[in-house]
Amino acid sequence: MAKRAAEVDRTEQYPWDNVELLKDAKLIGMTIPTQYGGQGKGWLDAVLAIEALSAACAVTGRIAVETNMGAISAVMAYGSEEQKKMCADMVLAGDKPAICITEPEAGSDANGMTTRADKKGNRYVINGRKHWITGGGVSRLHLIFAKVYDEKNNYEGIGGFLAIRDETKGLKITKREPTMGLRGIPEAVVDFEDMDVPPSALVIPPRGLKKGFADLMTAYNSQRVGAATVALGIAEGAYQLALDWSEKRHQFGRPINEFQGLQWKLADMSIKLSAARALVYNAARSGEGGFPDMLMAAQAKVFTSESAIQIVNEALQFFGARGYSRELPLERMARDVRMFTIGGGTAEVLRNVVAGALLKKKLPQTRDGWGQA
Ligand SMILES: Cc1cc2nc3c(=O)[nH]c(=O)nc-3n(C[C@H](O)[C@H](O)[C@H](O)COP(=O)(O)OP(=O)(O)OC[C@H]3O[C@@H](n4cnc5c(N)ncnc54)[C@H](O)[C@@H]3O)c2cc1C
Repeated sequence: MAKRAAEVDRTEQYPWDNVELLKDAKLIGMTIPTQYGGQGKGWLDAVLAIEALSAACAVTGRIAVETNMGAISAVMAYGSEEQKKMCADMVLAGDKPAICITEPEAGSDANGMTTRADKKGNRYVINGRKHWITGGGVSRLHLIFAKVYDEKNNYEGIGGFLAIRDETKGLKITKREPTMGLRGIPEAVVDFEDMDVPPSALVIPPRGLKKGFADLMTAYNSQRVGAATVALGIAEGAYQLALDWSEKRHQFGRPINEFQGLQWKLADMSIKLSAARALVYNAARSGEGGFPDMLMAAQAKVFTSESAIQIVNEALQFFGARGYSRELPLERMARDVRMFTIGGGTAEVLRNVVAGALLKKKLPQTRDGWGQA
């Protein structure tokens, strides 16, 4: 996968061949319970696999995240038997589910979404637009969040619906975003035009015993740990390259790692990596038997994503001009890693989550203190 990573970036093609390798190695659907064909592994098992994959190819690491965490774990936790079977089969066959929350006018404030699902007889009719949907155009399974209204137009809360691209009429992929990094996996605009689904498509009902958006956020903690893991893996890959190069590269008659200025950089990079790894592993462990703890997942993602950007940037510096060349992976890693303080909850918004959990009160800068993407 390391050898293919540059080509995946250059061609911007989804690495279907890597998906086959992941399937062969049983790294897809690891966390799906055994009765649905998975391996029933815990979050930490998935994290260890994702970390190693991401050091070689971040795009493949993200595919491993989204076939073990996020949407699939929400379905496994909250879905009906029928929904679980269908989604497990699709994921184990290699489909990376897409999770559709963000809208052009509702990003961090996901509760401000305007996509709506109107109950009409025994159907729901969904209209709206989502953007920055990872896998849009390659994913078949979509988990879509919308505001649900009853037949009298009373608002019931946010619910999560399943739809399948090319099967569910009215689901359209309308644009691919030209992204800075992680180019092998499309980010797309997804439109729903009178998308008509039966009640059996509803995985996370807006209210009742299941609490719609709150349940989504709980499940999403697994995806946040996964995102932190990809950033960690990229940083580890870059650090290792810098460490090796620092011995090989000679200037002023000695290996460059004999300069104290670079030794201290290596020391700082390794300290940040160890701290990030501990946060990520602990967050993963906190979720065994359920979902990772919200506070621990947010802390892990903020620290790891910000540290990883710094580590990759420093690693690139070790290579001098070569680091700036597309012939080496450092510039790609720098572009790829930049995403992780943004997607899946920005570092600022996750600091709000951390502060809200510490202070145990609603914060004025959030809509309800908790429900943020
Ligand atoms: C590569 C990538 C993949 C993605 N994949 C998906 C996906 O699969 N599905 C999906 O639904 N979404 C996805 N997203 C969207 C992502 O979740 C949003 O980009 C993110 O939640 C931020 O929303 P926004 O971009 O609208 O920024 P905005 O919400 O407009 O934020 C702009 C700035 O304001 C800051 N800000 C906003 N509110 C506050 C506040 N209360 N306090 C302090 N600062 C604040 C933000 O931190 C940010 O710096 C993806 C994004 C990227 C980049």
